[in-house]
Amino acid sequence: MSEFNESKELFKEAKRYLAGGVNSPARAYDPFPIFMEKAEGTKIYSTKGKKFIDYSLAFGPQIVGHKHPKVKEKVLDQIEKGWAFGTSTELETKVAKKIVNRYNSIDKIRTVNTGTEATMTAIRLARGYTGRDKIVKFEGGYHGSHDSVLVKAGSGASTHGAPDSPGVPKDLAKETIVAPWNNKEKIKEIFKKEGDNIAAIIAEPIFGNAGCIPPSDGFLDLLRDLTKENDSLLILDEVITGFRVSKSGAQGYFDIDPDITTLGKIAGGGFPIGILGGHEEVMSEVSPEGDVYQAGTFSGNPVTMAGSLATLEVLEEENVIEEANENGEKIRAKLRQELNEYPTLVQGISSMFSFFLTNQETVRSYNDVQECDFDLYEKFHRELAKKGTYFPPSQYEISFVSHKHTEEEIDQTVDSIKKVLEKIT
Ligand code: PMP
Repeated sequence: MSEFNESKELFKEAKRYLAGGVNSPARAYDPFPIFMEKAEGTKIYSTKGKKFIDYSLAFGPQIVGHKHPKVKEKVLDQIEKGWAFGTSTELETKVAKKIVNRYNSIDKIRTVNTGTEATMTAIRLARGYTGRDKIVKFEGGYHGSHDSVLVKAGSGASTHGAPDSPGVPKDLAKETIVAPWNNKEKIKEIFKKEGDNIAAIIAEPIFGNAGCIPPSDGFLDLLRDLTKENDSLLILDEVITGFRVSKSGAQGYFDIDPDITTLGKIAGGGFPIGILGGHEEVMSEVSPEGDVYQAGTFSGNPVTMAGSLATLEVLEEENVIEEANENGEKIRAKLRQELNEYPTLVQGISSMFSFFLTNQETVRSYNDVQECDFDLYEKFHRELAKKGTYFPPSQYEISFVSHKHTEEEIDQTVDSIKKVLEKIT
């Protein structure tokens, strides 16, 4: 690990001042995380200037590549004008208009600062709208770090052994019913028993925080039907899939009409954002029009809005989604073709994929993910980094490709992965 000695030293210092040495647990891994300093296009550079082909892309947002020139220009223009007003700006409406024009299920939005805030508010809205308290989430699904969803949560919560966080009041946690993903019988049973008390189902339409697990045939339709029949709401958490799987996210791809959608990541172009949106009838319950309270000093911050608008424009101007999807197909096909003699499973859809270290033929649930070899993945991640390829640090997190990844980079990555597997298996 001598090539990462500077990160070792920086982490030692960070641990003296930051809780656990990091500002988000998903960034922490043993023996120490690699400290990054700058990024451009498909590359990210460590503090000592080591170059990596990046497949984490800031945990998703950078689908147009890092430091896209247009996004940079628009953000710098806005910084010239000022960066926090605490007032309305025209930019907020321009961003909202773009989103409403893409998503049939969205008439109005509220912009917040993180995906966490978006799902927290979406759940409050569903509870306020229906007058019910219970919500349903899926085992290993991750919707941010607020109390109602830190129950059997994926992502960093699972990586660091705290899917049910201490500190979440028991009385609140019991309002969260946890269902197994892709299990039609179980979700029907839950609605049969508790249907009248359920405010909403919240679901990532494609699992992205317990690895990448697409929905089985008809599963999302079933969620839509059950919620409709029981006067509950369907919240699709498209923080990862929004503006990725299609211009109208996974809901466009699977043709599902949710009551509330949450967005984040790509929608902010790499600046802090969360968005919730839905049909007029539901969104009119949000304060100040309705009584469901939500507020934020930094919500709709002009710099984020400039980054967001520029990114949404680049998505169209450069055919980003289609090209990133093609790159997703390409890397999955090449990995499968080249690595079939190793205990690997490459699973994914669109520009997202998981590299599971397992002999399983498919991973369909949180339990299946837990069967994968996490110790081996830790080695894999570290060895791959030495070869100049940066993958997300845990099998719970998914990898992403941008539209900017080249055939040459993809081939180089597949070759590096093969060499690493030769060494560690
Ligand atoms: N929902 C999903 C599906 C996510 O993947 C995430 C973050 N990875 C969140 C919500 C929370 O977003 P944030 O980290 O911006 O709070």
